[in-house]
Amino acid sequence: MKNLLSLLGISALLGCLVNSCETANQTTPPSPVVAEITAPVFNRDSAFLFVQKQVDFGPRVPQTSEHAACADWIKSTFESFGWITQFQEAEVMGYDDQAMNIKNIIATINPDKKQRVLLCAHWDTRRIADQDKERQDEPILGADDGGSGVAVLMEVARAISLQAIDLGIDIVLFDAEDQGESSSATRPYRQNTWCIGSQYWSKNRHPMVSKPYMGILLDMVGSKGARFPREGLSVKHAGGIVSQVWNEALDLGYSDMFVNENFNEIVDDHLFINDIARIPTIDIINLPTNPSANGTFGHYWHTHKDNMNIIDKHSLGAVGEVLIQVLYKNASGAL
Ligand SMILES: [Zn+2]
Repeated sequence: MKNLLSLLGISALLGCLVNSCETANQTTPPSPVVAEITAPVFNRDSAFLFVQKQVDFGPRVPQTSEHAACADWIKSTFESFGWITQFQEAEVMGYDDQAMNIKNIIATINPDKKQRVLLCAHWDTRRIADQDKERQDEPILGADDGGSGVAVLMEVARAISLQAIDLGIDIVLFDAEDQGESSSATRPYRQNTWCIGSQYWSKNRHPMVSKPYMGILLDMVGSKGARFPREGLSVKHAGGIVSQVWNEALDLGYSDMFVNENFNEIVDDHLFINDIARIPTIDIINLPTNPSANGTFGHYWHTHKDNMNIIDKHSLGAVGEVLIQVLYKNASGAL
């Protein structure tokens, strides 16, 4: 956008020289001044490759070698973009009441800025395919459920590294979001067995000069035909952030994905960030009109179909572009 405007400026100048500014005395109304936010380009091909790379490690189940290798790659990639990184490691209680070692991955830019935003996603993938009809006891690849949110945030970090932003940003990638106990008719649903990494972080936040004033969680944002209605807890705890994001999506032409519709409350990392850390946080999550048999999420959810075949660059790109605009507008005070 900025380059295009400069080109137009140059051609206008050239045109003026060629025509010897014959029209200079005529009254030409000045062009209206439109507030312009320059923001770096979100590269959807790059985001797609970041999903592919995670999937290439295999399933990322806590306490496996694939999980450890992927964590190292994610951390070093953020470092290559100039972000400050750290692992937050902890021993917590798993869904089976056994000790589990988890690793949240944290990347920070502008650590001294008081005005801070939290961006987050979970990076682990489910240890079982309990919604599948086949190989239910095997872990899933989690291209969308795990891979997509991380990939969009990595590409956002890369883009931000190319254009300074007057905002502190903490990207927190949560472990053990998706290792919860399966729903069972014989036991009550144990909500706290899910989102263990975000529960831990919310109680033990890494040091920051100030608490982020807003949070945005991405979960399952990369599938073909993804559809993001306004999730209930997001509206309840952070309605102003929902409005910012959905309005930006409308402006960018993505209202077919960021639909003008409300949805039920979903148990996801943002529940604990809102309740425990008290950071107003929204969830951008795929909630399709033709969901899986469980009635909420995509047909591929917690099955072996959650692989690269369902990933769409358009979906990744839409979410990334909206996010970047919201960030740079917040930084400039335009929102
Ligand atoms: Zn999941």
